Amino acid sequence: MIKVTFLGTSDAIPSAERNHTSILLEYKNEAILVDCGEGTQRQFRKAKLNPNKITKILITHWHGDHVLGIPGLLQTLAFSNYNKTLNIYGPRGTKEFMRAILRVFAFQGKYKINIEEVWGKFFENEEFYLETEKMTHGTPCNAYTFVIKGKLRIDKKKLEKTKLKGAIIKRLKEGKNIVYQGKKYLAKNLTYSEDSKKVSFVFDTSFNKNIVPFVKNSDLLVCESTFGVELEDKAERYKHLNVKQTAQIAKQSKSKKLVLTHISQRYNKNPNKILQEAKKIFKNSVLVKDLDEIEVS
Ligand SMILES: [Zn+2]
Ligand SMILES: [Zn+2]
Repeated sequence: MIKVTFLGTSDAIPSAERNHTSILLEYKNEAILVDCGEGTQRQFRKAKLNPNKITKILITHWHGDHVLGIPGLLQTLAFSNYNKTLNIYGPRGTKEFMRAILRVFAFQGKYKINIEEVWGKFFENEEFYLETEKMTHGTPCNAYTFVIKGKLRIDKKKLEKTKLKGAIIKRLKEGKNIVYQGKKYLAKNLTYSEDSKKVSFVFDTSFNKNIVPFVKNSDLLVCESTFGVELEDKAERYKHLNVKQTAQIAKQSKSKKLVLTHISQRYNKNPNKILQEAKKIFKNSVLVKDLDEIEVS
């Protein structure tokens, strides 16, 4: 089971109700923090989560509302005897920005920080992988997906149409291509993946052709929805999505559930307006508030 906790759900200016963006994805021993806006470490306390569990930080881009919580969090981890290697992944420029952050205060951490500027599939183990795609936001910006690989199963109907027999079939389940009686069979043509899960994060960006294929078939699509339909022009100018585009991305990508976040304070009194606009296009939409949790199983 994957648990996603929305620690902060505001846009560039936080409000009394909404903190700057940060989201924690937990799966088994992994705790992956997506963005780390100002005050993130206090949101951990409010959510009764332990920041010492963090294994990776994924940074979408270096606008302040997504990263100003990093120095405070690093310091707290140092005081808490954090003893893992902290892996920080981000777009182009991340190494330079991180070096600057570590210069502006007397950082005394003894743990190792590994910083990588990433594209494509950048992490993979037996169970899951992490992938990124470039967004369009006027500054280098990554969208991310977290994918649990699931087990490969044999597609029996497709197998019946072949002459394959015997123990060699097992190799297909391992994802290996096989040669049988002089003919080559590709594993991907005779198998399907079961229990695979995908969670996608899209912050901040104007609409672009990379988004839909990248987030295709997400079980959970977490997407910025900074502007309502009435501010379409403004969204375009500031290289953000308006909620109509957000909902269309969910629909076109055949995602199962859409989470609206990065909410502007102009909708504080009536966030329902944004939600209703999304629901007109994509029914299974939710709008989160700080500390909400969503499970994917
Ligand atoms: Zn932002
Ligand atoms: Zn931004």
